Amino acid sequence: MQTLIKKDSFRRDLISRRKSMEVTDMRIVLLGAPGAGKGTQAAMIEEEFNITHISTGDIFRDNIRDMTPLGIVAKSYIDKGMLCPDDVTINLIREALVSPKVINGFILDGFPRTLVQAQTLDKLLTENNIELDFALNIIATDESIISRISGRRVCPNCGAVYHIVYIPPKVENICDVCNTQIIQRDDDTEETMRKRLETYHHENVPLVDYYQKKCKLVEIESTHGVHENWHKLKKLLEGYK
Ligand SMILES: [Zn+2]
Repeated sequence: MQTLIKKDSFRRDLISRRKSMEVTDMRIVLLGAPGAGKGTQAAMIEEEFNITHISTGDIFRDNIRDMTPLGIVAKSYIDKGMLCPDDVTINLIREALVSPKVINGFILDGFPRTLVQAQTLDKLLTENNIELDFALNIIATDESIISRISGRRVCPNCGAVYHIVYIPPKVENICDVCNTQIIQRDDDTEETMRKRLETYHHENVPLVDYYQKKCKLVEIESTHGVHENWHKLKKLLEGYK
């Protein structure tokens, strides 16, 4: 339950830089295991700090729904049950990063997942004169993730995420945002989660290492209580503002 700040000197630099530039926005990459509560925390960061939550899941959903040229390409792969190629994903991220919506900053969630993607993202950011403030890694144990996932429910219509104990909707089983009946995803089982976590750890170690070497890594430990986590995270981020 202790907040870990990996690079104190980096943090001080960042604070003084922000003060001298009178900048209040933040550009953050969000890392963390599937089921570590990233989406929830990202939504709370978006609201509190007035920066845009860029979720790759939402980008895909929105582009497919609006039938944009990239959305049509993405859908052709998804319909065949194939993974979308990296260049399609990267083009979608590029558009999101230069959108007027992110003028106050952003928290990027769902990308990068691999070291290669992190390097690609750096190129994208450099090309567009965007500087990343830090990568926020939300740490949780596999066991806590698995117990959390079993209670997870999602809205099939708008993508909102709930938990039967920790983040219940106001009306049982009904999405607060769009009134659709929420569901448990087929892959939210323990067996699937263990496999996903194995892949995640394999890819995430070099990713965390990458941001640490660039002195851009900030880590926070996630526990069961959403509000407890938020309290810690808010305090941490206020230090950067
Ligand atoms: Zn909904």
